Amino acid sequence: MQLVILGAPGAGKGTFSQSIKKYKQFTHIATGDIFRKHIKDQTDLGKVASTYIEKGKLVPNDLTDDLIFSELNLVKKDFILDGYPRNLDQAKKLDEMLRELKIPLTACVSLSIEQEVIVDRLRSRVVCSNCAYSYNLKTAPTKTKGICDNCGGKLVHRKDDSPEIVTHRIQIYERETEPVINYYEEQGKLLEIDCGEIDFVTQIDEIWSLLLEREVKV
Ligand code: AMP
Repeated sequence: MQLVILGAPGAGKGTFSQSIKKYKQFTHIATGDIFRKHIKDQTDLGKVASTYIEKGKLVPNDLTDDLIFSELNLVKKDFILDGYPRNLDQAKKLDEMLRELKIPLTACVSLSIEQEVIVDRLRSRVVCSNCAYSYNLKTAPTKTKGICDNCGGKLVHRKDDSPEIVTHRIQIYERETEPVINYYEEQGKLLEIDCGEIDFVTQIDEIWSLLLEREVKV
């Protein structure tokens, strides 16, 4: 099963991806995590990407598309694309790549959430500097303060989770990424989840059944 997850910053794309992994050995391809790893390792891509990410801007399409193409070439199936595509050009490019690799996309899961919830959530979000796992200091803290439950790494606040940058990221989401939702709706691939009504942690079984139905149709 091949999935795309869309959602504003802080909607829970990473948490959703972790929840759905209990049903299948998905490869989680999160562009933001991959860019942050490059930044940490100070690669050429990381140096360029950081100039955009720190300002809350999108990394240019050509760099991001190439990154995804090499990831897809490696995994071929059963993946979750988290954070890609983020604009219409990327969505069209993804279709081209999947056609070339002969991989069908099963569904696009779009997580919708109120803006106030996002801002509040991101204020208390910390991420592991080693494995990229994310925690909420208020609602889902780690057992030991400042230390990742998953790998023992150090927890940090993301620089781009500061309130000014978050506002900018939300604007970019509305302007660039929301049109991608319609793109998948027109293809009959969209599964919308209203995070105010459905809790994808406790109701993940229902969501999984809906995804299985989609898989049969593909
Ligand atoms: P995320 O962890 O998904 O919130 O991504 C963090 C940042 O990485 C974004 O604000 C962008 O600057 C960059 N980024 C992630 N995915 C993409 C993408 N598909 N296209 C361009 N930039 C991206």
